[in-house]
Amino acid sequence: MNESVNFIRQIIDRDLASGKHTGTVTRFPPEPNGYLHIGHAKSICLNFGIARDYGGRCNLRFDDTNPEKESEEYTRSIEQDVRWLGFRWDELRFASDYFESLYQYAEELIRRGKAYVDSQDAESIRLSRGTLTQPGRESPHRDRDPEENLELFRRMRAGEFGDGEHVLRARIDMASSNINMRDPVIYRIRHVSHHRTGDAWCIYPMYDYTHCISDALEGITHSLCTLEFEDHRPLYDWVLDQLDVPCHPQQIEFARLNVEYTVVSKRRLNQLVSDGHVDGWDDPRLPTLSGLRRRGYTPAAIRDFCDRIGVTKKDAMVEMGVLENSARQDLDAHAPRAMAVLDPLKVVIENYPEGDGELLDAANHPKDPSQGTRQLPFSRELWIEREDFMEDPPKKFFRLAPGSEVRLRYAYLVTCTGVLHDADGNVTELRCRYDPLSRGGSAPDGRKVKGTIHWVSAAHGVGAELRLYDRLFLVPDPAAASDFLAQLNPDSRRVITDAWVEPSLAPAAPDQNYQFERQGYFVADPDSRPERPVFNRTATLRDSWGEQKK
Ligand code: ATP
Ligand code: MG
Repeated sequence: MNESVNFIRQIIDRDLASGKHTGTVTRFPPEPNGYLHIGHAKSICLNFGIARDYGGRCNLRFDDTNPEKESEEYTRSIEQDVRWLGFRWDELRFASDYFESLYQYAEELIRRGKAYVDSQDAESIRLSRGTLTQPGRESPHRDRDPEENLELFRRMRAGEFGDGEHVLRARIDMASSNINMRDPVIYRIRHVSHHRTGDAWCIYPMYDYTHCISDALEGITHSLCTLEFEDHRPLYDWVLDQLDVPCHPQQIEFARLNVEYTVVSKRRLNQLVSDGHVDGWDDPRLPTLSGLRRRGYTPAAIRDFCDRIGVTKKDAMVEMGVLENSARQDLDAHAPRAMAVLDPLKVVIENYPEGDGELLDAANHPKDPSQGTRQLPFSRELWIEREDFMEDPPKKFFRLAPGSEVRLRYAYLVTCTGVLHDADGNVTELRCRYDPLSRGGSAPDGRKVKGTIHWVSAAHGVGAELRLYDRLFLVPDPAAASDFLAQLNPDSRRVITDAWVEPSLAPAAPDQNYQFERQGYFVADPDSRPERPVFNRTATLRDSWGEQKK
């Protein structure tokens, strides 16, 4: 909502003011050959955001012209992810719905002398395309007459030829300075089933040809795509100019999103998944929307991130910290607080009565009273964080140390009176005394106690597994490396199997976000069992990326 006016919106404003358009129609056109990632979120927020803000329409269109790589599973996941992000499409379309129209338009191109069947093999076609400095060579079949082309094209459709025996090419200009205009292939023969059209077709249209016509058939006003398609725009316009299509959408390019220490390319993500470098498309270390969701990112956080990075014409690398900050901001405002001990050290409060203990009131959110309170069980034996105790502390250590006093969050002031060790000298247990008059955490005599630490009652706490994540790659731009897999961070996940969490966290509510006090934002993982919750750390409380980079 608060997105500043980007250059695309300026174009739209002008088109509406001049009367070129009376409204906006956009589309998000994924190929169902993988799961959506954070880069797609940028495109989704842009296209659907325009529809939202201009009272326009936005379609979800699957660009499914590559049957070998596409599947129903990907289609379903993409629909789910777009909805999860908070957007609703006006129409659900598939490029494959247009196969018959696309075919008819191709016949029209042939009749108008604007397309021809080439019978060279793929390698010859590639070699004759020329280079940036040299023009291409015309195919010996370039001047076939339309009747012969039509007959061959119909026989291609009828399945009379094998894969690669012929292609249909647009007849444009083999000497064009733009290689995309050197008679690009617009149809090829592929004897493979399509996940939606089955075996109805054995010729499939190419992306550039399909995309512009699909846009025109849907009445798209502004066709937004990423910068790598800038050089394809002349072809987009050429195809539409040759045909009697319902309208001629304007293609506008914007910069792709790249995020440091990760990869946003379906090809690379696919490799990470299929080679088992991660656990699946929804592995919380991946920048896929399903991975981010499992990691605890909220739709609002991702939309906020897309707003912040804006839409420009300049490719840039965004720091992971920017994404994390969007999560922190949303979770700080909304996530209920809870207590969890990651590295437990036992504390016995010697002067506290044996037995069931008592229930203490704790605020669910310090800044949002509407989230109410919960009751925390407190008892004689507790778990605290091992790093909150130092036997021989430096001067400014305000946590627990022999003889020092600390506040147990929402509970009492306690003073450490004894330290137990094992044979190797490791601390195994602390003995403390509590001040019974300090219930709730304030000293009756007003004495100052600086440190406050979190805790979990040993008798009531629930054993939990916590998964802590670090960057997936060791370098900011793994895609630039010759072997990006060699840049994987071997320590991208740390699993803590012996954490203790307060009992209100079991059974874990699916997808529920929390702030574990002093430890970061966490979310319940689907691997949770009622008696054994599993949590993923979404982000630490503060940005640690800057420090790591060095
Ligand atoms: P990938 O390289 O990951 O396969 P793609 O562009 O081939 O990406 P599509 O399914 O064709 O993936 O993308 C659908 C839409 O999302 C396109 O309009 C594309 O431009 C846009 N998109 C894809 N990746 C990004 C990105 N990193 N930043 C912004 N938009 C993107
Ligand atoms: Mg693509």
